Amino acid sequence: MRIRDGFEVYWREPGASQVGLDPRCAVLLEDLSEGEQQVLEALGREVDRAALLTLANAHSVRTAAVDVLLERLRVAGVLLEEGTVAGDPDARYWQVAAAAGIEPPGSRLDRVIQVCGVDQLGLRIAVILAQSGIGSVLLQDRSRVRPEDVGAGLFRPGDVGVNRAEVGRAVLRAVAPKVGVTVPVRTRPDLVVVVDHGVVDPVPLRVLMREDVAHLPVLVRELDVVVGPLVRPGLGVCLRCVDLYRCEADARWPAVATQVATRPPSGVETSLGWSGAALAAGQILAVLDGRQAAVEGAELALTAWDPIPVLRDWQVHPECGCSPAALGVPSGTSPQTSKGGHR
Ligand SMILES: [Zn+2]
Repeated sequence: MRIRDGFEVYWREPGASQVGLDPRCAVLLEDLSEGEQQVLEALGREVDRAALLTLANAHSVRTAAVDVLLERLRVAGVLLEEGTVAGDPDARYWQVAAAAGIEPPGSRLDRVIQVCGVDQLGLRIAVILAQSGIGSVLLQDRSRVRPEDVGAGLFRPGDVGVNRAEVGRAVLRAVAPKVGVTVPVRTRPDLVVVVDHGVVDPVPLRVLMREDVAHLPVLVRELDVVVGPLVRPGLGVCLRCVDLYRCEADARWPAVATQVATRPPSGVETSLGWSGAALAAGQILAVLDGRQAAVEGAELALTAWDPIPVLRDWQVHPECGCSPAALGVPSGTSPQTSKGGHR
């Protein structure tokens, strides 16, 4: 047995030791004898019960006192029983988080994520997901690697001109050898990540809506990267709702949007390319793991100059028709228009 990976034992003063540092998960142990503090120190590395009791005996600590100490650690969630295999840093992190009351994720091995749009940002999201233990990460992009896609650990200068998805799969296999990059035909992804520039292409979205596949847009705009809203078809806001609100705010938006879609992407600012990818990947993992995700019915807009994303709520547009139940009105009726909410 030993103290859980990710935690360390610290001596504070005679009679008091602590396990861990963060107040959300650390355990303070007081009124300990010097011998009990020694026993606690010994649990910082793997030790079997017999050796622990021998040590305790040498420091005049009774077996009953050792058991009380072990039970306190067990209840606090910081004790690993004998024979537990050490996890990787991700597993360790979630074990520590569990001691802070956060539900640890289950296995992600059977999860299937598809990333459509494998530019530098899209590939980085895919890499994070693959390294986080997602079983299958599928890449879809028919275009070729562009010079602005080249980045550390991603596309290399020699990849320019080669198919993005093809090179991307090789990158994924290199960083996460166990990740699946293909799945049997007709496998439904748990979530599709749609990475786009300027505007989100509505054509593939219609297919996702029709086939009832959850999807998350990650949109690179002039000044920010926007993650969300998460679309669960039929259960809330969709990207057409968002577009309808934009048309209400700017009647000529459809004319402009059509032109935006035809302009070549201009890449993403370097730091925003990293922070935007991390933000998106973190939200995707939250959705898959069942934690509360900020992108449920909302978008997060991140710039390169402010580390805190701006959250904006979105509601179903009354004229979209995508989620009648979310509006509380029968399908086919057309209630008065209301604006998308702001937070
Ligand atoms: Zn809608």
